[in-house]
Amino acid sequence: MPEENAFDNSKKQLENAAEYIEIDDDELRVLKKPKRVVEVNIPIKMDDGSIENFCGYRVLYNDARGPGKGGIRFHPEETLDDVKALSAWMTWKCAVADLPFGGAKGGVVCDPREMSDRELEKLSREYIRRIYKYIGPDQDIPAPDVGTTQQIMGWMLDEYENLVGRHKPGVITSKPIEIGGSPGRSESTGRGVSFMIREAADKLDMDLKDMSLAVQGFGNVGNHLVKSAHEMGMKVVAVTDADGGVYDESGLDYMELKKSMDEKGTVAEAPYDDITNKELLALDVDVLSPAAIENVITEQNADDVKASILAEAANGPVTPRADSILEEKDVFQIPDFLCNAGGVTGSYFEWVQNRYGYRWTLGEFREKLDVKLTKAFNNVYEIHRSKNISMRDAAYSLAVEKVLDAMRLRGEI
Ligand code: NAD
Repeated sequence: MPEENAFDNSKKQLENAAEYIEIDDDELRVLKKPKRVVEVNIPIKMDDGSIENFCGYRVLYNDARGPGKGGIRFHPEETLDDVKALSAWMTWKCAVADLPFGGAKGGVVCDPREMSDRELEKLSREYIRRIYKYIGPDQDIPAPDVGTTQQIMGWMLDEYENLVGRHKPGVITSKPIEIGGSPGRSESTGRGVSFMIREAADKLDMDLKDMSLAVQGFGNVGNHLVKSAHEMGMKVVAVTDADGGVYDESGLDYMELKKSMDEKGTVAEAPYDDITNKELLALDVDVLSPAAIENVITEQNADDVKASILAEAANGPVTPRADSILEEKDVFQIPDFLCNAGGVTGSYFEWVQNRYGYRWTLGEFREKLDVKLTKAFNNVYEIHRSKNISMRDAAYSLAVEKVLDAMRLRGEI
């Protein structure tokens, strides 16, 4: 999300939200700082015999509503401020979805694409050795994020369980299914976005059947969103990824997109007309969903957006300045930390099953996801209408109020 500094941005958003709730200056000051920051050095013997000293972080932003929750990033440009910002956003996301979690995030400054499997496994295990006292199913629960995979979660889980001497699958979510992962988890973010679109359409009196949708990104989120939107009867007219994209006014076939992705590594080779990312964002469609990267709708192109609903599936796809332009144009925005809350809600379900030793069917998982997300959407929508504020401000004020209530009840503030 960073336009300048991601953590400064997150504090700015918090200040905006503070205008709509009862909060005093001292409380706001407390909320602007993470509760705990852990920084570790991780020396690793690389395959060529040299020693690399990696820097790792784990930030627990707030745990008033429950144990911390948030992914671990492996990225060469990772900074402590990024991790702090992401941990703050996780706090608000868990609160808006009413999950019994606080917010956290972790990261290691490294380039996983340049590392061998052996080096990655060693780094994952050594990172956990240094932070294991600060994580746990009742304390802080990691998951994958940019640059980390299910396999990495498997190694991290194994290292943690070796250190504590017992099985604790609930310490990490989005694990491989064979060691406690949940079958619905990988689709839960994209499917969740489709539930959000369905609710928004209902509120705007639009008929979901044959509504047109354009999606930027065909990774984990975009792929499952397209599939689920098809199932709901929507017409997906355009999809792009990092290599370009395709367009057909009468609708794209999900299987053709998937085939192109599986065989060529991009949707751009599917048998339809070409479209660029820039063109996709300006399409005259009912719903536009940026589901790829941050900062794609800025003050430069916000005015080109013609969609009635903007479903922010990615984290931070709209810059704060673009936000006000979209608001003036009356675009109905589903803010990112509400729109993509299906992912962490899926992680919550995995954690619940791990703790109870349950295995839900995919049907049960989807049904519960729908109930939880529909409720979250409607709670935010109600505040948006009753206070006459944007959906983003409504989501923020709901989330911050919930965290404040928990802190006050604990006597923390
Ligand atoms: P992914 O890596 O699986 O897929 C990313 C997609 O974006 C790919 O199709 C890629 O080609 C495309 N892309 C990359 N750079 C692009 C560019 N410059 N222009 C257009 N397309 C580009 O990632 P994902 O897991 O699908 O995540 C997508 C977004 O959703 C991210 O912002 C992520 O933080 C957010 N998110 C993901 C989850 C989850 O559960 N995966 C949960 C919440 C939020």
